Amino acid sequence: MAFKILLTGGLGYIGSHTYVDLIAAGFDVVIIDNLCNSKRGVSDRLEQVTGVPTDFVEADVLDKAALAQVFTDHNFDAVIHFAGLKAVGESVEKPLQYFQVNVVGMVNVLQAMQVAGVKSIVFSSSATVYDPIQPSPLNEGMPTGYANPYGYTKLTCEQILQQACHADPDLKTGILRYFNPAGAHASGLIGEDPNDIPNNLMPYISRVASGDYPFLRIWGNDYDTPDGTGIRDYIHVADLAAGHVKSVQALLSREASHLVNLGTGKGYSVLEMLNAYSTACGRALPYEIMPRRAGDLATTFAEVGRAKQLLGFSATRGLDEMCSSSWHWINTGAKLVSPDG
Ligand code: NAD
Ligand code: UDP
Repeated sequence: MAFKILLTGGLGYIGSHTYVDLIAAGFDVVIIDNLCNSKRGVSDRLEQVTGVPTDFVEADVLDKAALAQVFTDHNFDAVIHFAGLKAVGESVEKPLQYFQVNVVGMVNVLQAMQVAGVKSIVFSSSATVYDPIQPSPLNEGMPTGYANPYGYTKLTCEQILQQACHADPDLKTGILRYFNPAGAHASGLIGEDPNDIPNNLMPYISRVASGDYPFLRIWGNDYDTPDGTGIRDYIHVADLAAGHVKSVQALLSREASHLVNLGTGKGYSVLEMLNAYSTACGRALPYEIMPRRAGDLATTFAEVGRAKQLLGFSATRGLDEMCSSSWHWINTGAKLVSPDG
């Protein structure tokens, strides 16, 4: 019988792409999401892409009764926990909300797993947990730290997971530190579709390309990088999705818990990203140079050896595919999902 997986936040950007790969790999999957940053119509899109009905329950991870019901209704083998808030600036303004959703939400999921006897969880962490003074490439053995409440929640969740494993040696955790997700599904049917103005570079560039915004504001061109703009490790969301399948498969094979970076090991500057997207969409995208954004680092990219060694994971898709798939999504699929659909 197929393993059954609960995806929290599974209608969101990374969750929806992971869902497609899990179905393709033969898993049964149930999604819960409260739709605070996704749309109900994504569920239909997932059905179109996979050809199987989407098992979606509208529920909040803060609602313990609803969580308990989902665990009673299904016999899960593992959980992949994506549900959470992710806007750094908002977390500075509303730290308590971030502690509540990201930390309490994960604790609720762990408690529901404990009651149901579910022993495997994959967790969405972030490169933001590295101590900001560490030089790239960032490896998993480096000291951690945080620069804002969002980063604090991710680091706290990692630590809670490690202590939960200590108390219950049967509990296995896959902590995945994502670098910068980019791109969309090749079908153009699912992609990044935030409910608010995006803070991140790629979704913002895509909205400049679509004409929603007049130009990209580049936060500083006086960094110590070849063109002066910030360098990040962009990883195609389809590669990230594949990393989750490998992670959950390792946990279900009862391999040891793991904590790994998911990145490509290669960094690109803001201007390189903008130029690559300009090529993908067929016009030079306008930009203006602005002062640096508070808290930004010049360069971050991953060391990728541990994910390869422990999970056999390597990213395979390059920058052109990230930009062309994003443009395909923005130009076709994104328009079909109405704000409340
Ligand atoms: P997303 O906002 O697209 O997806 C998150 C999903 O969780 C959304 O569908 C949202 O509606 C849902 N959700 C939020 N709060 C919920 C709650 N209380 N109960 C139920 N559902 C809830 O974000 P994403 O980019 O897919 O990110 C997924 C996870 O990965 C998040 O935990 C995020 O912090 C983490 N992460 C994202 C990035 C990134 O750049 N996208 C980088 C590192 C880590
Ligand atoms: N960036 C930018 N304009 C934007 C958004 C981001 O110049 O509208 C830059 C940002 O300063 C950084 C890079 O793009 O150098 C990636 O930023 P993002 O917020 O996507 O990721 P993070 O900084 O969290 O890794």
